[in-house]
Amino acid sequence: MMTAEDRRAELLLNAPGRQRNWYEVEDILKWERCKQRMEDRLHARRRERQAKTAPPPATSGNGWRIVTNPKTPHEALEQLARQIINASFHEAPLLSEWRFRWGDLAGLAGPLPVVGLCVPSAKLILVDEARVLDGAGNRRELLEILAHEITHALMPLGESHGANFKKTLKSVSDVILADDTKGVPAAAPVSREIPTGRTFAGRRVEWAGAGEWEFR
Ligand SMILES: [Zn+2]
Repeated sequence: MMTAEDRRAELLLNAPGRQRNWYEVEDILKWERCKQRMEDRLHARRRERQAKTAPPPATSGNGWRIVTNPKTPHEALEQLARQIINASFHEAPLLSEWRFRWGDLAGLAGPLPVVGLCVPSAKLILVDEARVLDGAGNRRELLEILAHEITHALMPLGESHGANFKKTLKSVSDVILADDTKGVPAAAPVSREIPTGRTFAGRRVEWAGAGEWEFR
């Protein structure tokens, strides 16, 4: 973030053609501040309008609910999902309006437990917290669940597990599970001194608020 002093120095030093004098710089700064205030007001008004018109996002539905106090923050799951999307689709701005949350999906369980759920009507992807964090789940399972549900979210309604679904899921899995064929040890915390890596390709993923976790 550039401070006012930085901006003043920049305007003084980086004038094209000739040097700006102090009055010119102050004029520019005044105009920029005014513009910023106008933009802030516009944004605030837009946020207000949106808050009034948009219904609050769903937190529960038929057989599912978002966990209120997850052991690992929702943001960590969201971040991992974004990394999968970015790595698989070359930073395409996909599913930007979707939420990725830890959920309780016990209400959906039939003969088999449900570990992941895609709710298109709520633009929501859920991963069952109890199953993945406490039970049989491991990191590979988490990646597989997210890949599966992200693929559902990208498909038109009605595709279900059809040919296009399978093709897309395979290409996502090929990217994110490429190094994972030899079996996967649990994610291990790494020291805080290691520079934060955010690239999925580097196999290091930062879990916001939960320290850093390196995946190999
Ligand atoms: Zn499915």
